[in-house]
Order: sequence, then C-alpha cells, then structure tokens
Amino acid sequence: MVWGSTSAAPVLRNPESEIAPADGLGGRRSQSSAASGHALRRWPGLGAARGTGLAWLVRRAALLRTPSRRPGRYAIRRPAAVALAAALVLGAGGTGAWAWQDGRQRPAAALGSARAAAAVSDDASQVSGLTAQAAQAAAQSLTDHSRAQLEQVVAAARAVLDGSAGHVADDAVRTALAAALSEADQALAGTVAPARAATLGASVSTAAAQVAQAQQAWQAAQTAAAQAAAQAAVRARAAASPTPTSSVDPCRTTYTGPPFWTSVPTATGDGSNGNLPASSMTALSWTTDSHGTRFYLLTPAAQALEKLNVAFRAAFGHNLDIDLAYRDYATQVAMRAALGTVAAVPGTSPHGYGKAIDVPELPCEYGWSSVQRAWLLAHGPSFGWVQPAWALQNGSGPEYWHYEYTG
Ligand SMILES: [Zn+2]
Repeated sequence: MVWGSTSAAPVLRNPESEIAPADGLGGRRSQSSAASGHALRRWPGLGAARGTGLAWLVRRAALLRTPSRRPGRYAIRRPAAVALAAALVLGAGGTGAWAWQDGRQRPAAALGSARAAAAVSDDASQVSGLTAQAAQAAAQSLTDHSRAQLEQVVAAARAVLDGSAGHVADDAVRTALAAALSEADQALAGTVAPARAATLGASVSTAAAQVAQAQQAWQAAQTAAAQAAAQAAVRARAAASPTPTSSVDPCRTTYTGPPFWTSVPTATGDGSNGNLPASSMTALSWTTDSHGTRFYLLTPAAQALEKLNVAFRAAFGHNLDIDLAYRDYATQVAMRAALGTVAAVPGTSPHGYGKAIDVPELPCEYGWSSVQRAWLLAHGPSFGWVQPAWALQNGSGPEYWHYEYTG
C-alpha cells in the first residue's frame, strides 16, 4: 500500500477513472503511474492533504449511497468506498489544505456523468422496449389489415361464384375458383400471415376474374343467339307471307330518306337550339359517323351515355351503335325539307339541344321487338336515357331508334 505517498496525485488528475464500476478502487490503482511527475507540479500540497481527503471520501461514500436505479452498482461501490476511508484514516496523521479547487468538482461531476449515463441507459432500455412494442403492434396491424383484405376478396369472389352458376360455357373455371376459395377459407379459420394472405388473395382474385370473363362471354353468346333466333323468326314469317314484299330482307334499314350526318358545334354558338357552343359539348369516345365526324352531345348527356355504353358493351359484347347525335339548325332545316313532318320543326328538335341520339334504323338490331331495344328501355333510365312517349310504338310519332337524355 503506497496510498500515503505523494504519488497519490493521479487520483485527482484523472478522476474520471472512478466511474469504472468493476474497479472498487477507482483510479487509485494508477497512483504509482509514471504520470505522477506532472501531477506533482499541479498539486503541490498533496503531502498534507490526507485529512481533507478523508472528508472527500466520506462525501463520496454519501454520494454513492444515493439510491440508484441499479442496485447492483450501489452494492459493489459502497463497501469499497468505506474500505478506502478506513485505509486513509490508518495512513493519515496530519492536517493541511488539500489544494483541489477545481479537482474537487471532478468526482461529483464524474459521478453525475455516471448517473446520467445510467439514466440514459435506462431510457435506452425503455425506448428499446417501446420500439419492440411498436414493432409488434405494427406487425399485428399488418396481419389484421391483410386478413381483412383477404376476407373482402373472398366475399367478392364468392358472389362471383354464386352468380355464375349455369352461366359459363365450361364449369372448370368455377371449379378452380371454388378450390381457391376453399383454401382461403381454411387459412382464414386460423391466423394468416400477411404474405400468405397476399398469395391466397391473388389466387382467389385471378380465379374470380376468369369466372367473370367466362360469364361475360357466355352472356354475349346468349345474346347473339337470341338475336339470331329473332332474325330467323322474322325471316321465316316474311318467307311464309304471300305478299310481294316477302323477298325483301326484313332486317334491312327502315330509313328511306337521303343521307344526313351528325353536326359539330361551333366555338361561337349562342346556346340556342342547333347553335350550341363547343364549350358545352363533349364528343362520344367510341364512334364516329361514316364521314369520320365525332358525335357531340351536351356534356352531361355525353358523360351519361359513356356510362350507359360500358354497361351495354358488357351485356352485348359491342358498343352501342350511333347513327346521329347533335344536329345543327341548318341540318334541321334540310331534314325538314327532305322528310316533311317526320322531322321536327327546325329549332325544336331535341337533337338541336344536344340531348338526343338515334341508333341505326335496323329493325332486327334495334327495332321494336329487338333484344337491344328491350335492354335500352330497361337500363337506359338509370343512366338518364329514355325513349320519350311520343317515340314509342303507340306514341304520336313512333321512332324506335330515337332516345333522349332527361338527366
Ligand atoms: Zn332522333
């Protein structure tokens, strides 16, 4: 033990070493280090400093008794400090001033740092715990979300499966969908990992899309067959008729007037019938007349007809045929001159307001008893498109080809 020698100075020169918890003696083990020369120059009064040093050790022991959030450290350090105090009492005899003006702050500062480090360590531990909880919650949320998505896909696909019974040409696609649904059901009976849910969802979606496609093809084929049957029936009746017209194709167009084409709006239109401005109108996206002119309608009417056409195409496998749409004033005058009272008085036609279309005057396609007209009358109103009362078969001016937008 060389504690009483003047070479004890490094204790204060390097007080930070005291925070080493595994070393109950702190920096005192370095008291005989070669650095003592420097320490002696800095702390000349060390030889008579033992009494004050005892006071410091007692103070330090008191600090060490400060309740720690880590009892283990306290248990190690307290006996060591007490032992050191005892050793100093035994080796000391004199009194004197221990010149450690700034050094006296260092043990406390070092201990504060140690305690702060412990607090940070505890905080880090808490942050780590919270991070783990957040990660767990996020994982659970992802699992719940992917499960909900899978359940939605399964519900939608089951509706497709149920609605397609007997409505597909080959039932193999429905069998495949049923198998995919069964697999998903089994998985949903327990916990489904997100990746598994995604795989099952994709499988069910693909199978459902194939069923929907097959059903649409089946529907189009049914419609085509019905139309063919209707045309055959009309031809058979015509062939059986004794009238001279029996040799004429009953599906020929019923229009006998001169050709007319649809009109385009002008930029300077004043908004009156047959003089609508282009800014208020929209062209239909899917078709033009035989001159390549686009069919314009008042924008809300055009937008509604676009939606109607989507439904029409889904039912029949082709777009709605358009013969005429907007009709400017000059064309109304020309039509009145050519067709007489069959054409509206110029300036009064619903076509002049951009709110009417004519489908082709083809009786087997769009005629009174045609499947497509029946569909248009059944579904058109939900899109704002109707056949007005005057145009019906028993109306004042029957026109099976004429439809109007009522909003
Ligand atoms: Zn018309």
